[in-house]
Amino acid sequence: MPQFTMILIDEKDAEGADIADHVAGAPFREGGGDETYRCGGCKTRLLVNVSHAEAHGAIIRCGKCGRLNIEPHHHHH
Ligand SMILES: [Zn+2]
Repeated sequence: MPQFTMILIDEKDAEGADIADHVAGAPFREGGGDETYRCGGCKTRLLVNVSHAEAHGAIIRCGKCGRLNIEPHHHHH
């Protein structure tokens, strides 16, 4: 069960991109795989046990600290 810390980006870096809004208290998405992703700012779990495809390229606004996160493998191919 790999667990990853997401990378924080600036609002301007996310301009024009689809941003998913996480709501504090529950993961934004859960199930379908075995990868867990945590907010790079406050360590809240944003994606729990999701598939890699689900997380790939995701931009998520943390509902707890309000910061923007991208998944850490974004630039790997
Ligand atoms: Zn956070």
